[in-house]
Amino acid sequence: MNIHEFQAKQLLLSINLPVPKGFIYNKNHNIESLLISNKEKKWVVKSQIHAGGRGAGHFLGFEKSGGGVRLLDNLEDVKKTADFMLGKKLITKQTGPLGKEVNLVYIEESTSIKKEYYISLIIDRRVSKIMLIASQSGGMEIEEVALREPNKIFNFYFDNLDEIKKNELEKLSQNLFFTGNQTVQFSNIIEKLLKLFKDFDASSIEINPLVIDNNNNLILLDAKMSFDDNALYRNPDILKLKDDSEEDPLELQASKKQMNYIKLDGSIGCMVNGAGLAMATMDIIKFFGSEPANFLDLGGTANKERAKEGFKIIQSDPKVRSILVNIFGGIIHCDMIAEGIIDATKELNLKLPIIVRFQGTKAKEGKDMINNSNLNIIAAESLNDAAKKSVEASL
Ligand code: GDP
Ligand code: MN
Repeated sequence: MNIHEFQAKQLLLSINLPVPKGFIYNKNHNIESLLISNKEKKWVVKSQIHAGGRGAGHFLGFEKSGGGVRLLDNLEDVKKTADFMLGKKLITKQTGPLGKEVNLVYIEESTSIKKEYYISLIIDRRVSKIMLIASQSGGMEIEEVALREPNKIFNFYFDNLDEIKKNELEKLSQNLFFTGNQTVQFSNIIEKLLKLFKDFDASSIEINPLVIDNNNNLILLDAKMSFDDNALYRNPDILKLKDDSEEDPLELQASKKQMNYIKLDGSIGCMVNGAGLAMATMDIIKFFGSEPANFLDLGGTANKERAKEGFKIIQSDPKVRSILVNIFGGIIHCDMIAEGIIDATKELNLKLPIIVRFQGTKAKEGKDMINNSNLNIIAAESLNDAAKKSVEASL
């Protein structure tokens, strides 16, 4: 799960890391009173969407009106710009051509920038360690730096997260050419970010840019954070930060029913009980030359009602041309699932071809029910047969 920049900055502030002063814009507030304390008289107006590259983006239908991050020096323009951004679609490298609607605008006191750095923490699965990526060429074009000057980016692994060694941090600091007080500040930032990463089961934290301001202090100017979905149950304060408008609507609908659904790009909808079987089902669809439209694990408690919910979600995806149901009856009985499929087909008036493969407990009874239903459902003989027929039916 991703969170917004302003939420990430609140987390950073809560652990006493230096972020600019800011607030979420609200049309009804008297923003003058909130902004007047800023002596520099410069503000940054920032569209809050999860996608990156906001600064270099543009608004749909307004190619020349500036990006999603704008630096302004008078209050009237701040207000005008914030009002302009709200409700518009911001297109960035990461949003796709339709853009993403801006529902929240964050206003910050501007920071003077002497130099921009890049730092991020991610999990390197190859070595099961948290890796720091850092560069003294931060800012908007970090992807370009990675391509053109890869030697300007370095990676670093920490030996033991519970005991980060002083010399590790000093070495890192030297790599970025920090000296004196900046080394102290930088070490503090890395230590606290690592603790945050660990405490809240993050999967990535990216600060781009981390800057040196005119007073030679380090400030965290942008923050992107992502958290492990499977650990959200033990991080309720993070879960609260979820913005449903940033989630895939079908995935959201499924998660409310405690179903594990992931939307993919193919044309064959899959409904399966068990994650491993669901993966094997996707593999076999690919083997027969097509692509799955989704991953859907009904779970061990699969029953008639859940089968119905599964169908509702699968058929809401306009790309789906046929549905493959692959059920292994262990504790659950295939005839019960057959009943769910038949009910759902009638209730939802499903016209899509459905191919069912039952194996295990009451598979024969299930197949008989399907065959006697007089609906557009085929009971296949084997998994191969089912996959082949699903692919044929989708063409
Ligand atoms: P992103 O484009 O989505 O990564 O959004 P950022 O928050 O990183 O902003 C984009 C760029 O705007 C940054 O790389 C900075 O160069 C610039 N920027 C952001 N905030 C400030 C600020 O307070 N002062 C100045 N001078 N520039 C800023
Ligand atoms: Mn950024």
